[in-house]
Amino acid sequence: MKICRFCQGSDLKIWTGNYYRCNDCLYICTVPVPTPTEISNHYAHYHEKNHQASEVKNKARAVSYIQEVDWIKSQITDPLEGPVFDYGASGGYFLDALVEHGGIKNVRAFGDDLSIGAVETLTQKGYHLSVDKVGKGTMNLVVLRGVLEHLVDFRALLKQLTDLVSEEGYFFITATPDSSSTVANLYRDEWVQHHYPSHFQHFSAALVDELFAELNFVLADHVDLYRDSVYRSDQDNENWLSSVHKRDSQKRHAYWGSMMTRLYKRA
Ligand SMILES: [Zn+2]
Repeated sequence: MKICRFCQGSDLKIWTGNYYRCNDCLYICTVPVPTPTEISNHYAHYHEKNHQASEVKNKARAVSYIQEVDWIKSQITDPLEGPVFDYGASGGYFLDALVEHGGIKNVRAFGDDLSIGAVETLTQKGYHLSVDKVGKGTMNLVVLRGVLEHLVDFRALLKQLTDLVSEEGYFFITATPDSSSTVANLYRDEWVQHHYPSHFQHFSAALVDELFAELNFVLADHVDLYRDSVYRSDQDNENWLSSVHKRDSQKRHAYWGSMMTRLYKRA
């Protein structure tokens, strides 16, 4: 019997291909999940192959990072001082934005990643700190950028990471696809965020709120950064309407609500 990995329910319906959606909690996941070998092969050279592959993509990301840092600053009443810890930090590019644009001192910016290439870059920049070495309650801000959807044991990692947040600190999650968005549900396997094995599961924002609530964290605020996103295009509305009216359309586009950006604090 197929079991929902989020709520343990057994009422699953095919969403697309081997992705199933739970009729109880709406969590979407492949059955089975990717094997550890599939995952380690995929991430072994992830940093070099995927993340650093395209200069154009990197420039777009850099703009997004600044928008995200600006938004965090607008949410936090005290100046953002750190220390900050970015898990799945890649080569520390979001940390760079926090340092250069967010006023965080370099010595107070830390990150870790599973990819060896990424760890080398983090080390060169002076950011690297193994997640197991971070003291509990020591981080003013913990960042999870486009990572949650990649984690098989998402509850264990969130427990470990939320433990690192200081009493008055924050947990920032962004660039995670939101399966409750209209485009996700309409496009499914053609949704721009749908790719295996990296995105073998899709969360809705409501489910992420629930995961944090299990750890006694509540939402401070959330935002849809699509409005000023570099991924936004003049064609998006036309593509969306064409899809709804079942005309031929390009479905691999950014759109309202497709990605979540949420800031949590201790309850
Ligand atoms: Zn479920």
